[in-house]
Amino acid sequence: MTDIQSYQVPASLAEATAILANGDVSILAGGTDLMLQKNLHGGTLMNIRRLEELHGIQLSGNTIRIGAVTTITKILESPLIEKHLPILHEATNHFASVQIRNAGTIGGNICNASPAGDTLIPLLVLDAQVELASAADTRLIPIADFFIAPGKTSREPGELLTAIHIPQPAEGFVACFEKFGSRPALDISTVSIGIGGILQDSKLQAARVAFGAVAPIPLLAKKTMAAIENQTLDVDGIQTIATAARDEVNPIDDVRASAWYRKELIHNLTRKVLQNVANT
Ligand SMILES: Cc1cc2nc3c(=O)[nH]c(=O)nc-3n(C[C@H](O)[C@H](O)[C@H](O)COP(=O)(O)OP(=O)(O)OC[C@H]3O[C@@H](n4cnc5c(N)ncnc54)[C@H](O)[C@@H]3O)c2cc1C
Repeated sequence: MTDIQSYQVPASLAEATAILANGDVSILAGGTDLMLQKNLHGGTLMNIRRLEELHGIQLSGNTIRIGAVTTITKILESPLIEKHLPILHEATNHFASVQIRNAGTIGGNICNASPAGDTLIPLLVLDAQVELASAADTRLIPIADFFIAPGKTSREPGELLTAIHIPQPAEGFVACFEKFGSRPALDISTVSIGIGGILQDSKLQAARVAFGAVAPIPLLAKKTMAAIENQTLDVDGIQTIATAARDEVNPIDDVRASAWYRKELIHNLTRKVLQNVANT
């Protein structure tokens, strides 16, 4: 069922934000999440795929800007992303199928706000900011503050997600992403994990840790980050951190896995990722 009355394809960002300002709008990017919804609400369906301002990947100064309607394929194939943000490249490489990657956008993945969204984990690790534009102004907020509940974000109804800003990681920054699903491809994550930081003297400084599908929102795992602080990444140190990770997450039972199994996965994947990080 849908109560959509009109279909709009704005040609500019100004036109798009003016349409949004009228209220009662459903935003359509790739449609790979939206078109599966049983009840499409909003008097207007607004297709944003033709907005030039929302396309492309650029490095400007020390920031990489990814336009919101950049597809997952474009990110996967971007030499800039592979060179500067390999953890994001890795996450897009494990994302759905070619067909879904060709249609699905990074902005749609973020605004869908699934706790299992694959790009959200590297974006949390990389301390990304989201750019939101309305008819009145543009604001930037940390992605860690964007997610409120499953499917809910702090985006106002009159705002469009226009881009993602990612600071270029500091010298010596290393990061790894792992996704666990019931099959190797075309599966939503049972859990996912990203860990990054600056490796120095077998310790991970300024560590950032994010977990997917173990909380109502993609989780910036602050207790696990604190456990990494000053911990040597040897067998004992890694075990201490993995235990802190298992204690921090609070998953649910669902069709993909039990809460107990997800906690064990987080423990084991944290160990695996830290070993990979320590060996880089
Ligand atoms: C078979 C299949 C496999 C999938 N596999 C994966 C997977 O492995 N990993 C994964 O993370 N996801 C997966 N997904 C989910 C989906 O493909 C992704 O979330 C995708 O990135 C959504 O992007 P989209 O452009 O299609 O979003 P859309 O469906 O167009 O939009 C999603 C939501 O975001 C809103 N929105 C979109 N863009 C904006 C914007 N710029 N500003 C404000 N609001 C906006 C829409 O209104 C809607 O509510 C899968 C989906 C399918 C059908």
